[in-house]
Amino acid sequence: MTWLPAPGPEADRDLPLDAHLHTNLSPDSDVPIDVYCAAAVARGIPEIAITDHVDFDPHAPAHSFATFAAREREVRDAAARWADRGLHVRFGIEVSYESQREAEIREHLARNPYDFAIGSVHVMPLSPYTGARVAGWVAGRTFDEIVAPYFAEVQAAIRSELFDTIGHLDYVKKYLAAHVPPSAFAARPDVYEPLLRALVETGTALEVNASGLRQPPGETYPPPPVVARFRALGGLRVTAGSDAHRAGSFAYGLGHVYATLAAAGFESLAFRRRAGDPRAGVSVDMPDRVRERFRAPNERGHPSL
Ligand SMILES: [Zn+2]
Ligand SMILES: [Zn+2]
Repeated sequence: MTWLPAPGPEADRDLPLDAHLHTNLSPDSDVPIDVYCAAAVARGIPEIAITDHVDFDPHAPAHSFATFAAREREVRDAAARWADRGLHVRFGIEVSYESQREAEIREHLARNPYDFAIGSVHVMPLSPYTGARVAGWVAGRTFDEIVAPYFAEVQAAIRSELFDTIGHLDYVKKYLAAHVPPSAFAARPDVYEPLLRALVETGTALEVNASGLRQPPGETYPPPPVVARFRALGGLRVTAGSDAHRAGSFAYGLGHVYATLAAAGFESLAFRRRAGDPRAGVSVDMPDRVRERFRAPNERGHPSL
């Protein structure tokens, strides 16, 4: 969708929230929290959620990288340091969801109060999509067979009802890009349909994740037509995140994400801010200038045909 703004410092500023960020308390990030805080103030982004990785697979890198106490202290201290500059820093988590570890995940989230919980399906050490296995996995398989294990886990993550939002819904595109291009996913909207319906039925938010714009797929996870379909199915809850792991990726592509959401007809984001209270949802309004510029033509009073 070429009419959506390209990522860059001009488009990726003066937006209300970046709800997906990794600091150096994630094993795959080297960014001190204050770097994001300073960038947020400089970009006119008044609210951020720190969502460092927590893995439950003992062989995965974020299994015992940082304790809950260390992560909570880091974020709460930063929130206190930056409050007088008008920045709100929320304490979140990105859980690597695995259906076989759902009981442990449920127990962790019940015991440890986060402001905001993202559930994501990652490519774990034994996954068929790892660099060493993916070519063997795709050989001789149909599209449906190739993507089935990933989407089945995403479906289970949604149905667990453990998460405020589901991160990067079709992240498997990144690992498959050399074998199955994003256009093959675009040609099969039916594979997304059960996921979108489950999100609507459970009241779980859909995250539009900008990291795919800087990765091989070259489009958001999920792409704009899937976001529009979610809205058409009655989806009401969405979140937006850059999923930065490097300082230079802070808010990267966020303008594109907000425009995607506005074009789909969303007027606010669903965001939870109160630790320990799963019903403490709030909505964060889309900026008027984004809504006005990008909202769908048929919602501007123009004929849609
Ligand atoms: Zn992730
Ligand atoms: Zn992430």
